[in-house]
Amino acid sequence: MTDPHAPDVSPLPPDQDPPDLADLPQLPITAFVDIALPLPVGQIFTYRLTPYQQQRVKPGARVRVPVGKRRMTGYVVAARAEAPAGVETRPIEALIDRDPVLPPELLELARFAADYYLTPLGDVLAAMIPVEADAWGDRRLRLTDRGAMAVHQEPVARALQSLLLERGQMRISEIEEELDDPRIEALLVQAIEEGGLSWDAAGARGERYAAAFELAPGDPDALRERAGRSPAGRAVVDFLGALGRPALGEELRQGVGCSSAVLRRLATLGILLRFSQPRRLALDRHLMSTSARMEDPPPVLALRGDQQTALAGIERALTGGTFARFLLRGITGSGKTEVYLRAAAAALAQGRSVLLLVPEIALVPALAAAARQRFPLALAVLHSGLGAAERQQEWARIRTGEARLVVGPRSALFAPVTNLGLIVVDEEQDLSYKQDSSPRYHGRDLALMRAKISGAVAVLVSATPSLETRLAVVSGRFTPLTLTERVGHGSLPEGILVDLRNESVVRLPGDVQFSERLIVEIERALAEGDQTILLRNRRGYSPLLLCRACGEDFRCADCGLPRTYHRRAGELICHYCDSRLSAPARCPRCRAETLEAIGAGTERIEEALHARFPDAAVDVLDRDALRRGGGPAAILERFERGETQILVGTQMVSKGHHFPRVALTGILSADSYLGFPDFRAVEKTYAMLTQLAGRAGRGERPGRVVIQTFLPEHYAIRAALLQDDAAFAEQEMRFRRIFHYPPYTRMVQLLLRDRSRERGLARLTEIVGRISGHPRTGELRVTGPATAPLERLRGEWRLQLLVRGAQGSVVRQVLREALGEKPIPGLAVDVDPYHLL
Ligand code: ADP
Ligand code: ZN
Repeated sequence: MTDPHAPDVSPLPPDQDPPDLADLPQLPITAFVDIALPLPVGQIFTYRLTPYQQQRVKPGARVRVPVGKRRMTGYVVAARAEAPAGVETRPIEALIDRDPVLPPELLELARFAADYYLTPLGDVLAAMIPVEADAWGDRRLRLTDRGAMAVHQEPVARALQSLLLERGQMRISEIEEELDDPRIEALLVQAIEEGGLSWDAAGARGERYAAAFELAPGDPDALRERAGRSPAGRAVVDFLGALGRPALGEELRQGVGCSSAVLRRLATLGILLRFSQPRRLALDRHLMSTSARMEDPPPVLALRGDQQTALAGIERALTGGTFARFLLRGITGSGKTEVYLRAAAAALAQGRSVLLLVPEIALVPALAAAARQRFPLALAVLHSGLGAAERQQEWARIRTGEARLVVGPRSALFAPVTNLGLIVVDEEQDLSYKQDSSPRYHGRDLALMRAKISGAVAVLVSATPSLETRLAVVSGRFTPLTLTERVGHGSLPEGILVDLRNESVVRLPGDVQFSERLIVEIERALAEGDQTILLRNRRGYSPLLLCRACGEDFRCADCGLPRTYHRRAGELICHYCDSRLSAPARCPRCRAETLEAIGAGTERIEEALHARFPDAAVDVLDRDALRRGGGPAAILERFERGETQILVGTQMVSKGHHFPRVALTGILSADSYLGFPDFRAVEKTYAMLTQLAGRAGRGERPGRVVIQTFLPEHYAIRAALLQDDAAFAEQEMRFRRIFHYPPYTRMVQLLLRDRSRERGLARLTEIVGRISGHPRTGELRVTGPATAPLERLRGEWRLQLLVRGAQGSVVRQVLREALGEKPIPGLAVDVDPYHLL
């Protein structure tokens, strides 16, 4: 598949020298700062500083600024000695952070991303920083009794005291402005530590304190005597004596079985000393508990030769201390995870930090559990499924350097670790790494850039690498590390192709397409005590609820497509805009009772399985399941414990999990992507089928994978069935090259939404005009304007323009000039688009 004539295009962020960061953190004292704001305009705005602010403002910190009549949170990106000529600058209203929320490397990464993805810097920064990031300036302080009664000599301290006596409670940013004294911050910190000031935990979001107790100094027996005759009181003293350390109130109440009143009484008697302690939230519910308990020692495995060679390659690069890129390849179950966890251990041992990225939140619990077993204290978990307080805690642990190994989905690449040594991108080919709202970054590509800026080692991991990464290996930009064997006796599963065209359809209740062969295989798996995974890439009960009498199909008026029937929820939901109707018993239009569910989603497959195999326990894993009690971790744990025999789900079930008892996997329709007008449809199908096959037979015995299809001759399906990766890669690379698709070109999609089709087309046509007027237009290939495959969404037309070129930098340069500074209403720019809908 090597192509000597391939243009030198980087599928990954282009090689450019990371800027010199040495001078970023400390700024000269300046009167003005540039602030990035999350506004659709790409500009940076200059604001004025008070003398007080001049001394403390730092790049990477947040500030509150007036914008028109509003106030917004912005990010300091640079300092300047003077304002741009002819611009009236406004003052900053308040400093939010005492320390920068972003280390300089991340600020640099943000600048790169804004430039590369043709996106406002403020948008990128907003995506990087969780709202829960602790905001010093937002804390609301008040005087404690001690603080109110204290007698101060220093004028500032007196001023602070009387200000708070008068106002009751104030934000730190307000206090700082009011008093405008360089010593105020130190004074506040000291007063908080000494207990003269307290702040409201709710106002500060997240940081929580819990009551803790320890025994007063002195002879334990004497303390026991003083506790009196109450058995509870004595029990508490004994408990703490045996423990030999302070304990949380909660721990004591549970351990002894006493009430808080007992603890309060003992504290009043001076037997216990009470203090508060920051509360640590255990993130157990986000970890998979059955596979790896923290108490259990990590597995001690002797690495195979190929694993050793791969690990040695990564370790050498870590020792070298400079940027390096690897592709760790190997079929599912070949021991890739084991290799990168050892590489992580090596990086941590060097005192460096590690980011482990997975494509989906559902994959976090298992990896985080494995990581905690090996690195119990260093692990932090970061994703949107965490509660606000949990996220705030993890973010804080990372910033202080307590946590140095972060596991999470794409956004975890922005974790503010310092001294980064290693970034691992597991299942690098997965499309979920691409964010489909602004900023439309690709997690893998930004991870590579972050590694480059930090001089770290990047390891992409995959059984079926993306074509982008394959080309990067061929062109020598990546070092391949290949695992050739499957661990243990597990061999690849037997592939069973079912040609649906000549299937005498077995009709289960509800018209679900189960071939006879699939039923036989499920029966066999159940009889042999094995587990089954079935993939159906549609959630809900049926994609269509249709009135047989009048043809009513509950189309979403805004999006122009039928709503999906969710029977359990009793709703008809538009999967594009989420608009909902409650499902009627009879047709609202003709009043007939002839509504019929057509086709099957996961919910209906589940129902059909219950009917056909009443003794088997069936569970569903899809996006709807994320919202039900327990979430993905609970569903996966039940499956891993063997409480569930059949797991049905969307793509989520085919990714990454390791279940030794799965003997059978099946896909009800392998053709779901192939009908899409998307140049990646074949790649998606191949990756999906290969992954699914990889889930079967990972234990002692070989498994089976059943592929049901109407297109048995298609090369993606054949290659997946025969496990002929080279054949797939060769065919697909040829197709991409001949038709000028990525990775042989760089593509940008301009998607315009407008209520009026004509007006939208006119806007895009105008852009085409500006592109063709550009001197470098000859290097580009412009397709459209045309209606996008999904024509309407939420009542608007969707029109698109695809721009391709051999050099990404040229494509971006031309577009930047053609689009101009002024935002174009309804236009979304997607650099390296992955969801062409
Ligand atoms: P992959 O990430 O390639 O799918 P894993 O690293 O998850 O594979 O390995 C699959 C299983 O094999 C895991 O249970 C793992 O603990 C085990 N394993 C990995 N390497 C070895 C080894 N060298 N010897 C024995 N078992 C191993
Ligand atoms: Zn809709």
